[in-house]
Amino acid sequence: MWYRFAAYGTINLQKYISEKLNEDFDVDAEISNLLISSLDGKKLDFDLLNENLSKSPLKNFINEFLPSYSIGRKAQINFNTKTILLSVRSPIQELIQSLKHELRHAVDKGRLFRPNWINRNRIDQATNYFSKFKNKLLDQDGNIVYDIDRMIFEMIYLDMINNDENFKKSSEEEQIEKVAKDASKIKRKDLLIDVFKSLAAGEKYNNIQDKYYINDPLEYVTHLSDIDNLFSPQALSDFAHNNNIDDEIFINMMKDIISKLNANSDFSILKYISSDGADLIEGILQHSENPQMIRNVYKILSENLQKYISQYAYSTDQLKEAKKGYNAPRTGKKKKRWSVKYKKSIDCSNPKGFSQINYCKRKRRGGNYKTEG
Ligand SMILES: [Zn+2]
Repeated sequence: MWYRFAAYGTINLQKYISEKLNEDFDVDAEISNLLISSLDGKKLDFDLLNENLSKSPLKNFINEFLPSYSIGRKAQINFNTKTILLSVRSPIQELIQSLKHELRHAVDKGRLFRPNWINRNRIDQATNYFSKFKNKLLDQDGNIVYDIDRMIFEMIYLDMINNDENFKKSSEEEQIEKVAKDASKIKRKDLLIDVFKSLAAGEKYNNIQDKYYINDPLEYVTHLSDIDNLFSPQALSDFAHNNNIDDEIFINMMKDIISKLNANSDFSILKYISSDGADLIEGILQHSENPQMIRNVYKILSENLQKYISQYAYSTDQLKEAKKGYNAPRTGKKKKRWSVKYKKSIDCSNPKGFSQINYCKRKRRGGNYKTEG
């Protein structure tokens, strides 16, 4: 159906989930309530959380929540077991956002058809292995000395022997079996080779992580949906009003930011609105090899700003003008008449913008400002 293909490559959880369950409920509220009602003080009580999950329609998508002690990763879904790891270290609002991200993966119908990639855990494994054995892995000229299969085997063994209690207790035969099984899951050795080459060239871990995470075909829709969420019309409105920023000033500021946005922009204002969202936009502008994805970032931001203007901003004459669509092309016939009140508000000793300057020029010439209907 047409509405499944939400605008600009985002996944609308509400539509996907209520359609699948044939049930009408507020998905956003359900996700927040599920987590908030499972809090014990500031921390999640996982027994309570799983009990609450069993009573929620979301149980159709998630089998179980498990605690994770990871610092960097807030949530992670396992597609085979339908379990979701949630970091015990993250604040609840961030977990709500991350859970939405993982649920989008769960309902993403295109998931199985997307090209294979290299995931973040694999890059972690490679980085740990490389930093530990750098001297052994590189010759004097900085070239990698082993073939990729040996490196994969050693990398996985090292990870399992350090992190998996069951592995340590296994027999040697079982250990070899486990490592081989995991190694066979790596479908993109070419990307892993590139990761090792980047590490050998001294590229920073964070940069490598970002580059692969941003370009992961699986993350295309979830990244864009996160931006759509973190800079939603409501989020823009909350930010402007909580900080007592005048609507017109805020709108002009956002238009300015969006029109000049590039990889080297100053992201400080966007970071005030959402630091995760701004990091994501910065990452996409810096690393995305997909021009469509970059175009969609601009489209999502512009469209959300336009929705904010028409739904949330207070009404003044100038805002009414803006509500008519600041991006809409102004062809001769469609030119809108300026209100008398607006014309009177124009300060011709300090006109703002091209149209005001033009208006003042005409006024000075004594000619009537031509207003067509
Ligand atoms: Zn993801």
